[in-house]
Amino acid sequence: MASTQFTLEKAGHQTQESEFFKPMPPGYAAGRHKYVVVFGTVMSGLGKGIFASSLAKQLKDKGLSVAPIKLEGYLNIDSGTLSPYRHGEVFVLDDGLETDMDLGTYERLLDQNLARENYATAGQIFRRVLDKERSGGYLGRDVQMIPHVTGEVKYLIRDLAVKQNADVVFIEVGGTVGDHENAFYIEALRELAFEEGPQNVCFAALTYIIEPPTLGEQKTKAAQLGLKKLLEAGVQPHLIATRSQQPLEKGSAEKIAMFSNVPPNRVFSMHDRASIYTVPSAMHEDGLDKAVIDILGLENKVDAKQEAANARDWRHFETMVTSTRAHTCRIAIAGKYAALRDAYASIDKALEHCGAHLSCNIQADWIDVTDIHPADASAALKDYHAVIVPGGFGHRGTETKIACVRHAREHKVPYLGICLGFQMAVIEYARHVCGTLDAASTEFLPHAANPVIDILPEQKKIEGLGGNMRLGGKDVLIKANSLAARLYGLPAEGGVIRERFRHRYEVDPRFIETLEAHGLVFSGRHPQQPIMQVLELPKAIHPYFVGGQFHPELLSRPLRPHPMFMGLVAAAVRQADKDVKDEAVLGWIR
Ligand code: GLN
Repeated sequence: MASTQFTLEKAGHQTQESEFFKPMPPGYAAGRHKYVVVFGTVMSGLGKGIFASSLAKQLKDKGLSVAPIKLEGYLNIDSGTLSPYRHGEVFVLDDGLETDMDLGTYERLLDQNLARENYATAGQIFRRVLDKERSGGYLGRDVQMIPHVTGEVKYLIRDLAVKQNADVVFIEVGGTVGDHENAFYIEALRELAFEEGPQNVCFAALTYIIEPPTLGEQKTKAAQLGLKKLLEAGVQPHLIATRSQQPLEKGSAEKIAMFSNVPPNRVFSMHDRASIYTVPSAMHEDGLDKAVIDILGLENKVDAKQEAANARDWRHFETMVTSTRAHTCRIAIAGKYAALRDAYASIDKALEHCGAHLSCNIQADWIDVTDIHPADASAALKDYHAVIVPGGFGHRGTETKIACVRHAREHKVPYLGICLGFQMAVIEYARHVCGTLDAASTEFLPHAANPVIDILPEQKKIEGLGGNMRLGGKDVLIKANSLAARLYGLPAEGGVIRERFRHRYEVDPRFIETLEAHGLVFSGRHPQQPIMQVLELPKAIHPYFVGGQFHPELLSRPLRPHPMFMGLVAAAVRQADKDVKDEAVLGWIR
């Protein structure tokens, strides 16, 4: 402890600056928090997020508190303005931050809600530095990458450790070692290790083993060169994980060990597996979690009892994921970015969770609504046992989405409307059940005569929102004796749940009475305002017709699959097999 303190002070003096530049958040106790840093070498797309989150899960399951942070190299401030074509889905956190899908991986595997401080971009960091510079915060000094930008990075990481009282902070460095964009992160983390002292920072490097089919053997040169780049930056990894199709051969492990100063027993094979959900246990079997505990000296924080119980639960889930399924069903997802699965990554995950829990082999097909004329929607959906209309923005494809809702409603095909899909269901109902044929959303028709979906700035003002998007976790009051109350496992009198929102438009309250008079039930509302958040049709009318103004997919977790998806999949199973007897399925649709 004393020597750690010494190094910290020394590092502070090194910059020859005032106290102000010491990258220490208030309340920071050196040695209290430990750090695992995950770098990727050779190429991107190695699954750093899965590696880091699986390892973090292993430590969390032993009773340690963990806090992940993703350090993004790009200059955007958040992911709100990124096209799903380029960057996959926008994942919204409970506090309203729009992040990228990697944070979803962490939330799901750790079963832990994350916050603003778990996500940093170069844009955020530079903005902090530049704001400080403009307000005279650097006292006339020239502002430099080192120590100011790197100081800011270290500050944010330590601040996260304090705010979330983390035993271990998991730091995932975006991009690949050797990129311009992340060089300052690598430097900052090297400094962090130096300042925190031995046993406080563990560097893990992910690398890629090439297996050219023409050679039929593993080639480690690219991995060696990638690791060398990390060593050149002054970072000596403590452990290495290799990505490959086949398990890492002994000779390959030895070569990598020799070129990187990492003992062979700390070179782990992270070869492809049937399911990512088997990665945490595979890590445990290979002793990767134990290695991290040793490197960071955390033995005394391990709760063996808790670890055993958590391992049992996870094994159970793994067995469900990997075993042969009893049921099958086909679900159509009628959206706009169908060609790009990443744009709806969380929907895929939510269905994956439900498929495991209900022992159902779900064939989810993404139907690109922009390719289909509204008149052909029914034909396109005829072989499906359920329909999802996911979230979306803009006019393109909306008439086909409405036609998809109509098909599901009229043919009694189970339906789940998500955000825009909720709004489409309201418009469809207004048009074809209430007879308001020109019902529309002002998102598509700014001067609509009957804007059942509209922007209602007044309501947002009451909620105290500055921007025009309603973002983040919000409470939803669920109506007594509703399908929603049953799905969420609430008592008959209903109750309050919490969901994640990302929308600008909503149901105009002027139309609620007519919609309800014609049989649509708004079973979830804002606790104080007339903001409609869940809709459903009574069982007597439709086997499963549900919509949420929020994104239920963002809250589905492996061991806690989302009830709206569970209900949909169960209904789809029964749609596929009217005589299904499985209680696990029937329990969701009674
Ligand atoms: N475009 C709609 C709105 O802004 C729906 C948003 C969404 O589906 N995420 O309200």
